[in-house]
This record gives sequence, C-alpha cells and structure tokens, in this order.
Amino acid sequence: MVLIEDHIYKIMMSHKQRRNQKEAGGILLGEQRGKHIVVRFITSPKKKDIRKSTFFHRKDPLHIVEGQTVLRDHPTISYLGEWHTHPQWNPKPSALDTKQWYQLQRTRHRPLVFIIVGVNTTYVRFGSHVLPRIEKTD
Ligand SMILES: [Zn+2]
Repeated sequence: MVLIEDHIYKIMMSHKQRRNQKEAGGILLGEQRGKHIVVRFITSPKKKDIRKSTFFHRKDPLHIVEGQTVLRDHPTISYLGEWHTHPQWNPKPSALDTKQWYQLQRTRHRPLVFIIVGVNTTYVRFGSHVLPRIEKTD
C-alpha cells in the first residue's frame, strides 16, 4: 500500500486544478514502513518548470537540489517517484505520462510511485499496479 502523509496530501491538494490553474508537480520522497511505502516529502512547482493547463515538465534543477538535501538529512528516505496534476475530474495518465514513467521505471530495481492529482480523485500507480483512487480530495 502507498500511504501519503496528511501534510503532504494537503500540499498536493493546494495545486488541484480547480479554476484555470496550470499543471503542477514534483518529486516524491519517502520510506518503506513494514509492508507500506510512505510518501513523506515532495517538491512543489518551481520557477523554471514548464507549466501549462494540460502539461507539466519538471525542468527546474531545484527539485533535484531539494531532493538531495532531504536524502542527506534523512538516511531512511529515498526517491519514490513523481507526482503531477491534471485538469481532469478523474485523472488518467496521458500517453506521454506512461512513456515517461516507463523510462523512469526501467532504470530502477524497485517499483516507483506515480501520482496524478485530479479535480475529484487522485490516481496512484505503484510499479505496474494501479491502486484504488483516492476519493477524499479536501
Ligand atoms: Zn500527465
């Protein structure tokens, strides 16, 4: 199971594309806790990212810099995957998302976590498994 800490989920929800907001996204960091993967840190959109209403490219190097700081300060934490928003009620990965996830996954030995925050529900994928959508979005 993939667990998302409350304060992290709140950050994601604050980027939900309710009113003409642009797509947002960043990196997911966290740890294994028993059988579960816990998302404990994320990065948020930065100035140099490319953000459009239906497109997000995590281009700003600050995501990596912030991520590395977290890894250095928290030895149990590791890179988990990526998150971004979609302006869809119930988000579905685009062909580009699937392609990028595949490329990220093939260089890793562990299943990665991919999250798409929609307007009404949140899509969560763990490796090749699509997990039940998160319905509570406020
Ligand atoms: Zn997408």
